[in-house]
Amino acid sequence: MVKLSLKCTNCKETYSGETPDQRCGTCGEPLEVEEVNQGKIREGNVLNQSIIERYGDFYPFLDNEDKLSLGEGFTPLIYSSDLSKELDIASIYFKNEGINPTWSFKDRGTLAGVIRAKNLGYKGIGTVSTGNMATSVAAYGAKAKLDTYILVKEGMTLEKLNPIGIYNPKLIKVDGDYSSLYSESLRIGRENNIYFINSDVPLRVEGSKSIAFEICEQLNFDMPDYVVVPTSAGGNIRGIAKGFREFMKAGIIKKLPKLIIVQASGCSPIYNAFKDNTDKISRVNDPNTMAKAIENPYPPSGNASLRLIKRTGGTVVGVTDDEILQAQARLASIGIFAQFASATSLAGVKKLKENGYLNNTDSLVCILTASGLKYTSIIDKHDINIESCSIDNLEEYIKK
Ligand SMILES: *Cc1c(COP(=O)(O)O)cnc(C)c1O
Ligand SMILES: [Zn+2]
Repeated sequence: MVKLSLKCTNCKETYSGETPDQRCGTCGEPLEVEEVNQGKIREGNVLNQSIIERYGDFYPFLDNEDKLSLGEGFTPLIYSSDLSKELDIASIYFKNEGINPTWSFKDRGTLAGVIRAKNLGYKGIGTVSTGNMATSVAAYGAKAKLDTYILVKEGMTLEKLNPIGIYNPKLIKVDGDYSSLYSESLRIGRENNIYFINSDVPLRVEGSKSIAFEICEQLNFDMPDYVVVPTSAGGNIRGIAKGFREFMKAGIIKKLPKLIIVQASGCSPIYNAFKDNTDKISRVNDPNTMAKAIENPYPPSGNASLRLIKRTGGTVVGVTDDEILQAQARLASIGIFAQFASATSLAGVKKLKENGYLNNTDSLVCILTASGLKYTSIIDKHDINIESCSIDNLEEYIKK
């Protein structure tokens, strides 16, 4: 196992991978695992490999002997000719992350985090989350037989708590200032031998690299112009960007896709900063969107995400709840039921085509970050058709 070293995403200061700190002591910005710049995709049977095995050259700091995979990753990339035509763009693909063990992309980073926690001999893992990350860490904590601490906001509904609780973690509703829980949990973890896999910590970001790796393979290394990512904390987009960079440095691909960040207008700190052309995000004081999975008023990797967009040359867009609702219904009409927050990627593409940012020669991959079945209460907002008739009249009813 190769030693891991960490580098600040901003000032480039380096740290030993054994440091329990997840942020830079000098500038406060997030740390990231030093880039891997050589390696190949492993051969072998993809049906019995985990992402950490297939792309093992790019995870040299993980010792995978415990086999903690629950079958994450290798999600479908679905082309839509209908939507390519309707939007008048060259091609649009959807990477359906709803097909993961706990129905969101979070499982990729949780696997990397839990392997790392085991390798370092931690007795417990944890996370701070209001949803998908909580479910994911609870599941992998159960699989790894580690004490698992899930810290959630006071006032969360049973619809969200039960699918976390089923894995039987220590599920704790914390009363108080939720925004300080991120750093407070890291501090408590450091002192109590608990490895906190929060939204944008380095190992969680590492897991998201595999989304980029799979896109490269699925498109036969013919890179799209853009990858569109619903963004909240900024961990996922950082991982995807890093995955493409590492494949580029290793000579596996020849072109880097540009990145597009999509946020919900009701809580869009990264979009606000981009629009105002500043380098630093500001806290959103009154977040208000149904896209709860991406409602982070002060994202810990917000500035780092802005830096990425500047570097790759993509853009940031905000979409309203109505636009998201329409996009969710349109995705269902091609057979994909994505979580409300995930449908922002299609809504963002539509807006960027209408305002002329995208043109008819562009090829795109939209990341659909989670499954629609996770939070079903939103279904009430759609017009759902249900008809009825008696069995005696059924044939006649169907004929007409
Ligand atoms: C976590 C999550 C996101 C945002 O990912 P970040 O890494 O926080 O930017 C987007 N969509 C869904 C469904 C999520 O669960
Ligand atoms: Zn720094």
